[in-house]
Amino acid sequence: MNIAMLLEMAVTGDPDRIAVGPRGNDMSYAALRRTSAGAAAIVRARGARELVFAGLNRTTFPVALFAAAYAGVPLVPVNYRLSATALAELTARLEKPLVVADPEFTEIFAGHEVIPSPEFLDSGAAAEAVEDAAASEDDPAVLLFTSGTTAAPKAAVLRHRHLTSYILQTVEFASAGATDAALISVPPYHVAGVGSALSNIYSGRRMVHMGAFDPAQWLRLVREEGVTSAMLVPTMLARIVEHLDGRPADVPTLRSLAYGGARMPATVLETALRLFPDTGFVNAYGLTETSSTIALLGPDDHRAAIDSDDPGVRARLRSAGRMVPGVEAQIRSAGGAVLPPGETGELWVRGPQVSGEYRGLDSPLDEDGWFHTRDLARFDADGYLFIEGRADDTIIRGGENIAPAEIEDVLMTHPAVRDVGVTGLPDEEWGERIAAFVVLHEGIAADEDGLRSWVRDRLRGSKTPDLVVFKEALPYTPTGKLLRRQLTALDGAPAS
Ligand code: AMP
Repeated sequence: MNIAMLLEMAVTGDPDRIAVGPRGNDMSYAALRRTSAGAAAIVRARGARELVFAGLNRTTFPVALFAAAYAGVPLVPVNYRLSATALAELTARLEKPLVVADPEFTEIFAGHEVIPSPEFLDSGAAAEAVEDAAASEDDPAVLLFTSGTTAAPKAAVLRHRHLTSYILQTVEFASAGATDAALISVPPYHVAGVGSALSNIYSGRRMVHMGAFDPAQWLRLVREEGVTSAMLVPTMLARIVEHLDGRPADVPTLRSLAYGGARMPATVLETALRLFPDTGFVNAYGLTETSSTIALLGPDDHRAAIDSDDPGVRARLRSAGRMVPGVEAQIRSAGGAVLPPGETGELWVRGPQVSGEYRGLDSPLDEDGWFHTRDLARFDADGYLFIEGRADDTIIRGGENIAPAEIEDVLMTHPAVRDVGVTGLPDEEWGERIAAFVVLHEGIAADEDGLRSWVRDRLRGSKTPDLVVFKEALPYTPTGKLLRRQLTALDGAPAS
């Protein structure tokens, strides 16, 4: 099955239903199909082997996604915030790209075939459509460059069968009501952008796009557009909570709020649950290489956890929930032994939505088809998954393995702490020592000794930060990932 089939099904179900756009400037399913299939004819006529998308979240994105599928070439969404040099390096790795770029980004792609996105939409609407979905289920549907926080970006290959398996296993066809609307603020160059486009199309929900995230505007759009579901990365939810400053969110239509892409600080989530009392929260855990979500913690689990006095149930607020249908999981020790529930190790996953393939590199799957996520994790006795950070981020202090996340969680519960990142610094005596980079709430004071004792009182002494550095802000990717390795490079940080 090809991803264009998901759109074909939606058109057959209800051609006049609105697929995408804000009220008054929208596009029906039939129009989305016609425009995408018309745009596919342009892609084919230019002989392109890949369709690069360099733009903000707008109607052009789903059009480009399906145009690529109809034309039988992969879509390659790229991060328009990268430097011209970095973008040139990425596009140089493609065979024959045609670039659809928002007008403000077209210049960066000089030397390539470029179509400004408004022109791509207009020409698509006017062109004679490609009638057949050309791609087979084994063809690449999307190439996504990994964020490269630790190494040069790799091009993850998601084939049609990976993405359609994900949608068919997790989304119910035509399940959305006629007035349902999803607000999309995750960037199109992240797997969550691709996943949300496909799942909203398949369920029949109108998509409303937000180009650049802003908390006040996000709340306004939810109210004005009658938004019923939305997806955020943790840094976005933290900004909304901060913006609300204790006031209820007042978003009566918002039934579902999904978050993921990085670890959600428990304090932010607990506050959000209070400020959005009538909204169901969903934690979605996944990776680019797994076609997005592979584990989910649903609304009932969130409310049960927050209302519970049982520490085991309450702890589930920090869980990524249970694996989605079709995805198997194992926790393995560094030596490869499969570990029982309760023990922390590295998470391996397998299933039809798991690709794990990178363009031009050997398959990283083991001989039985398992993919190594490189996340440290454990399951509890009831099958709830707890993600404890990236294995690469582990600090080894005096021979003891320490997950930064555990110390971060404790520091986040200190009333003065707004944000924190913990990392290891090289140390002659201990191998590594623990450094905590802390952002304080405005007007609340805290000093290094106070924060160190806060941790010492709650965790073992060996997990007490050796050093606390106060910062104005911490560095994040647009998808909410802390750039841990940049912490030590920040102004005022100790030389490592
Ligand atoms: P990416 O492929 O860029 O989306 O990054 C995937 C990584 O993000 C995972 O391996 C996790 O480390 C992290 N991640 C994604 N979603 C979650 C989540 N819901 N909770 C904790 N970490 C997450």
